[in-house]
Amino acid sequence: MNIYNLTRDEMEEYFINLGSRKFHADQLFSWLYEKRISSVSEITNIKKELLEQIVSDYSFSKLKLIQVEKDVDVCKYLFELDDCEHIEAVLMRHDYGNSVCISSQVGCNMGCKFCESGRRKKVRNLETWEMVTQLLMIEEELAERVSHVVVMGIGEPFDNYDNLLKFLSIINHPKGLAIGARHITVSTCGIVPKILEFSNFPLQINLAISLHAPNDELRNQIMPINKAYPLKELIQAIEIYLEKTNRRITFEYILLAGVNDTKECALELVDLVGHLNCYVNLIPYNETNNLEFRRSSTVQIMKFYDILKKNRLGVTIRKEFGSKISAACGQLRSKKEEL
Ligand code: SAH
Repeated sequence: MNIYNLTRDEMEEYFINLGSRKFHADQLFSWLYEKRISSVSEITNIKKELLEQIVSDYSFSKLKLIQVEKDVDVCKYLFELDDCEHIEAVLMRHDYGNSVCISSQVGCNMGCKFCESGRRKKVRNLETWEMVTQLLMIEEELAERVSHVVVMGIGEPFDNYDNLLKFLSIINHPKGLAIGARHITVSTCGIVPKILEFSNFPLQINLAISLHAPNDELRNQIMPINKAYPLKELIQAIEIYLEKTNRRITFEYILLAGVNDTKECALELVDLVGHLNCYVNLIPYNETNNLEFRRSSTVQIMKFYDILKKNRLGVTIRKEFGSKISAACGQLRSKKEEL
């Protein structure tokens, strides 16, 4: 077990089970997340015997950072895991702060046709510590705070649900990384039972849905998950989520030339989501050499945007980062592993 797997509650429980006192959880959390120790020997306020016990129960290791690529407003991090797999995370500098996109799995089973990461089947889930230490190591490398987190890297976070929730609770905890829930976004391709479960999660985390098509016929073609959870069920689950959480939801919609970027698609999209408290984030497609999809022209993107706007949908076009340094969506790992 790794110490960065533990939520604050689990850490308290650990100390209580040892017959010790739960305030040690406060101390240890503070060493890990405020003082950011790089070795256990730096801990000064926990008794030697107890510390020895902790060290024999838990590893304090972090991920291995093996490559960093930097551009003006974006940095790409390639990590090696203990089993020699690779994952990536991306830091983006916005005017409102530093945002990090983290991975949740090695590979992904969702099989979206346009996605580079999905070309490699899921090997395994990331453990909580492997998600948490992506952030710790990036902050350390940058010597700057990360203010926003998006779980939009490699993997489907709702296919690694339990570890995801622990990760969210650790990075949000005031004694942990203290990243505000409203500054955290989880993106899913639409696993309906987990959307429903997530509506009961007490933190006010943002939820984004990768929609990418306004009807079942098209969505079945590009996102196999739609066959398991078609749009009617997805939209129903989102309605329940919105009612329970009183929040707003984001729909992500990649514009793929000649596939889903027509006027008809835009109007269908308005019909599909126009009644929801939502906004649509239009994403210019990051082309990859390995896949045949092409990005829509800027003119086409603007036309699509205008239709949504005219129909009173909240809509934004995603700012692009990192196409120069292969930061786009799974490309660095692919390059590294020559997949
Ligand atoms: N599995 C989750 C999160 C990871 S993908 C999900 O599906 O939401 C994060 C986002 O990047 C998704 O909206 C995904 O559809 C999108 N994406 C994947 N490949 C892309 C590409 N080449 N260009 C632009 N966006 C892409």
